[in-house]
Amino acid sequence: MTRIYNFAAGPAVLPTSVIKKVQSELLSFQNSGMSVLEISHRSSLYTDMVQEAEADLRTLMDIPANYDVLFQQGGATLQFTAVPLNLANKANCIGLIDSGHWSQRAAEEAKLVGKEINIIASGANSDYTQLPQEIALNQKYDYVHITTNNTIEGTMYCQLPDVENNLLVGDMSSNILGQKYNIRDFGLVYAGAQKNIGPAGLTVVIVRHDLIGQVSGLPSMLDYAKQVTKKSALNTPPVFAIYTAGLVFKWLLELGGVDAIQKLNEQKAQVLYDYLDNSKLFKAAVAKKTDRSTTNIPFVTGDAALDARFVAQATENGLLNLKGHRLVGGMRASLYNAFPLEGVQELVRFMEQFEQTVGD
Ligand code: PLP
Repeated sequence: MTRIYNFAAGPAVLPTSVIKKVQSELLSFQNSGMSVLEISHRSSLYTDMVQEAEADLRTLMDIPANYDVLFQQGGATLQFTAVPLNLANKANCIGLIDSGHWSQRAAEEAKLVGKEINIIASGANSDYTQLPQEIALNQKYDYVHITTNNTIEGTMYCQLPDVENNLLVGDMSSNILGQKYNIRDFGLVYAGAQKNIGPAGLTVVIVRHDLIGQVSGLPSMLDYAKQVTKKSALNTPPVFAIYTAGLVFKWLLELGGVDAIQKLNEQKAQVLYDYLDNSKLFKAAVAKKTDRSTTNIPFVTGDAALDARFVAQATENGLLNLKGHRLVGGMRASLYNAFPLEGVQELVRFMEQFEQTVGD
């Protein structure tokens, strides 16, 4: 098999050791004679496995006992609906930190279920190449919504902004478990699994227990209180995705947890940013260093045809999925937890070569 590096923004690369483990026990899970793809979600094989996955996630993220952990389906996008339905129940209004595409999607879906959106900060004046600067808290909000890492634009919060005594809800889809946050700073966080957690089809929701169960008549699948009571198995859960996520949690624990992987992520990102900051051809889309994402790094040459040539040649050289998001163009290297340092070093070597040929 030829070796490639996969820079995709999601679904993203998984640790090789996890894939090998999945492969090795795919025919018989825990010596049951059944594949994990076949086990019942009502069996102890499943319930033991999901409990262990939850316990490991609690350890990794230091999740206090008064927070519930839910393993849901429907992606982060369904949480754009579920969160407002469950939590925007007093003022009927959400304070939105508009840091780019995904925060706007969260707002659009909340509006569809009748919630008011008040943009309290926006990165629009920098075309979202910077995090929003100032926050204007004008009224009482049920919560303030923040996207901790902006997958498309390549900006990331290392420090959370001050939202005074407002409840904070975080979409952590693209840097959960890759960057350390204190869960106690949030009322709720959610994340689609397919970047740092595991296969698509699983969505993690972590919610402070006292915030749920305040709205009656919600559709059952979107009702956090019901999901908590049913231990995330109100209907058939995504068993395989949870199992694989559990293996990723173990891999991360062995590596030293979120502190250790964050350091590694910073090291990987630095290799690429250092090169971009010194290149005459390529430029990082996010100039402000404190706003830069460690997981998603967009960059451009400034010439769309040259960008396309670069992406095509990179692909031929085993550096895959570097094309930027259609909304912003250029290139994007996504360096999630399981992406190896050698892959970034190889990318930089290739960029240096490309830069030389273009300069000739
Ligand atoms: N939020 C962020 C920050 C994302 O990066 C994405 C997907 O890339 C989403 C939400 C949507 O996730 P999903 O496809 O799980 O609905």
